[in-house]
Amino acid sequence: MQTLVQKYGGSSLATTAHIARVAERVARWREQVARLVVVCSAMGGETDRLLQLASQLDRKPSPRELDVLLTTGEQASVALLSIALEARGVPAISLLGDQIPIITDNAFGKARIRSIGIERMEQALQQGQVVVAAGFQGVDAQGELTTLGRGGSDTTAVALAARLQADECQIYTDVDGVYTADPRIVPHASRLQVITLEEMLELASLGSKVLQMRSVAFAGMYHVPIRVLSSMTEGPGTLICLNRTGESMEEPLVSGVAHDRQQAQITVLGVPDRPGVAFQILEVVAAANIEVDMIVQNISGAVSHTTDLTFTCPRGDFETALELVRSMARDLGAQRVSGNEQIAKVSIVGMGMRSHAGVASHMFAALAREGINILMIATSEIKISVVIAEKYVELAVRTLHEAFHLEKGACLALPGQHDPQPSTLQEAQGS
Ligand code: ASP
Ligand code: MG
Repeated sequence: MQTLVQKYGGSSLATTAHIARVAERVARWREQVARLVVVCSAMGGETDRLLQLASQLDRKPSPRELDVLLTTGEQASVALLSIALEARGVPAISLLGDQIPIITDNAFGKARIRSIGIERMEQALQQGQVVVAAGFQGVDAQGELTTLGRGGSDTTAVALAARLQADECQIYTDVDGVYTADPRIVPHASRLQVITLEEMLELASLGSKVLQMRSVAFAGMYHVPIRVLSSMTEGPGTLICLNRTGESMEEPLVSGVAHDRQQAQITVLGVPDRPGVAFQILEVVAAANIEVDMIVQNISGAVSHTTDLTFTCPRGDFETALELVRSMARDLGAQRVSGNEQIAKVSIVGMGMRSHAGVASHMFAALAREGINILMIATSEIKISVVIAEKYVELAVRTLHEAFHLEKGACLALPGQHDPQPSTLQEAQGS
């Protein structure tokens, strides 16, 4: 490996003892890799602590001042890690967002990276120093400090890896990889060796939050291979790559089961069936910046000339959405509006689904055997999602995990089904 970018999250840097352990690990990597850049988050809990301090003084602190405040978290951690490296005889230099520089737009608290200067980093790397870069922060064209949004150090790491054309971007965290399901629900969930960016995007947006989503999208754009691993244990972690070509693996039918409890459902019953009603209902919701996920409209009643429309939205927006839809429904002359906050979304994700029939029916059969009623279904090329009552979410995740034998890793063929082609071939050759 020529160039390596590593990122250590807050939990890996929680105390000076943790920082010393990270320094040991970095020192070991330094023996193998000539050009090493280490991106740090703030020490565990520090960003929350700073936000808490600000909120004690003002309910709505100025975004500019918040960013000046929050960047101190990473400023402390990079300096401490550099000190720990130097103490071990490893030459190191800490660099803040404005020293690198990482130029962003001026959206305080959710800034986007515009460009990255590499001269200063290259200079340090050439002198044999480990560059310890502050994650999560940048500087705008006016010289104002900015931050990239919570979890933004992941994005810093991927962006630096892309800019330096690193061979790999290693993200050290408190989990040792990406799992086939949340291990808190499925204790024997297995760690995936490889997952594609596309699958990861689906899994993450579905609620398995290992990485900041933006960093994954970024990695796809710039073809950066990411590896998620634990800073507490040794192990290869999970490689998140663009595609599986070059890997000796088939595309799995199902790589994982994701779940999301932060959902709510709203149904408008007896809407007059005429062009534009779905638009009018969903428009008021969108205008309030509420993100609608699944949408289902029933087949219209031939006699009544009415239809029912159901959609899901984040639970935090439920009350607002319900109120907006109620008043729009009155205007449209709909019969009734009902809402349900006690729902959850459960999804299976896998690249191989694209070209295989039978995955959906296998999923629905498994849920039916457990008596779990499906309220809504949505599919994409590589994902099947169902909405169910929230009280069944754990049962559903466990049931699906078992139905696709994910305890053995990603599912390559439907259980009980053998790939017909190879066996026919064998038979043909044997006779
Ligand atoms: N320290 C920031 C946060 O807690 C950024 C990061 O950890 O990635 O969100
Ligand atoms: Mg994080």
